Amino acid sequence: MKDKKSLNLGVKILIGLVAGIVVGAIFWAVMGAEAAGAFTAKYIKPFGDIFVNLLKFIVVPLVLLSIMDGVISMGDIHKVGKIGWKTVAYFLVTTAIACVIGLVVANLFKGAFPVLELAEDAAYEAKSSNLMDTLVNIFPNNAIAPLSNASMLQIIVIALFFGCGVLVAGEKGKPFGDIVTSFNEVTQRVMSFILAVSPFGVFALMVWVVAAQGPKILGSLGLVLLAAYIGYILHVVLVYSLSVKVFAKMSPMKFFKGIFPAAAFAFTSTSSVATLPITQECCDDMDVHHEISAFVLPLGATINMDGTAIYQCVAAIFLAKCIGIDLTLTQMIVIVVTATLASIGTAGTSGAGMIMLAMVLDAVGIPPTYIGIIYGIDRLFDMGRTTLNIIGDASCAVCVNAWEADNGGKKAA
Ligand code: ASP
Repeated sequence: MKDKKSLNLGVKILIGLVAGIVVGAIFWAVMGAEAAGAFTAKYIKPFGDIFVNLLKFIVVPLVLLSIMDGVISMGDIHKVGKIGWKTVAYFLVTTAIACVIGLVVANLFKGAFPVLELAEDAAYEAKSSNLMDTLVNIFPNNAIAPLSNASMLQIIVIALFFGCGVLVAGEKGKPFGDIVTSFNEVTQRVMSFILAVSPFGVFALMVWVVAAQGPKILGSLGLVLLAAYIGYILHVVLVYSLSVKVFAKMSPMKFFKGIFPAAAFAFTSTSSVATLPITQECCDDMDVHHEISAFVLPLGATINMDGTAIYQCVAAIFLAKCIGIDLTLTQMIVIVVTATLASIGTAGTSGAGMIMLAMVLDAVGIPPTYIGIIYGIDRLFDMGRTTLNIIGDASCAVCVNAWEADNGGKKAA
């Protein structure tokens, strides 16, 4: 039984988190933000970076193999289609609701948002990408490059194609399927070695964030941060509590308790993809059938970003106000559509949502360079949005698991 192990990891991560905050605050108070930021960035953050590097290194084989294995373990191509549609529908509906929540909250705060005298250094070179490019780029034109570039959406497409290929090839595909299963098992073990040191990584990153930012970041940008966090919390309470309760008949408390280790880790690592193995472990412990979580979670870590969608909506309204633009209802609808798509195209890695924000701003005529205004505190937004992103993935796994069980599918052991 994994309960004890994952509980221990969750507790250790929490200890790392709290200790990191305390030590970071001490650095900040003793040395001042600038010196503490420079010192911790030079001597403490690198230990966090080592850990994040290890996670990044394992994540490509992990996503590729676990999705392939997830598809193969369903044993039937029709089942893949059935679960796939339910999963994608859940992702799209919850992300669209997230956008609406983000817009409503941001509009309530709008009156209090400042109109800024813009400083020169607000300019930030944002890379804008348009909708059609995003769509076309999902499909790889090379089988190897996506793996070496860690292009997650393309890796998912490759995994889905090869997984389905194994199923359709029948007997002849079986040896390939067995190799995938074996590789996947080995990759999971390597991942568990890396996870064992995660509390230290969390500690190092947290010391750096708190020492460098200190309470100063809660100054003029506190309001927009608050708006985003209210949006995040509303989404958790309204959407995830309700969906696990209604669709999976699971008590929301049980769900939140079950997902806590992954949520704590997402909060500090700011990467859904890096958190994936812990999310998977939490879902296993909540009795989600492995063939479902192995399919839903990697897909979710790559395309399902409710927190990112909320952030992009709040940020768009905030930046519009900062530069004195009053958005119309039509523009708000454009924001909902583009933020939904942008969040799908956002990689599950640290800071990726801020890059994709350029696409949303572009769509409503706000120059993406103004992202620079909130650039400095992106990590604080990112902590919340990543947490939400992975809770959303897990809630989908729990619901799809229940739907499949209702349809006479296997119930988890
Ligand atoms: N860091 C987020 C994630 O990994 C993506 C984002 O930047 O919004 O889910």
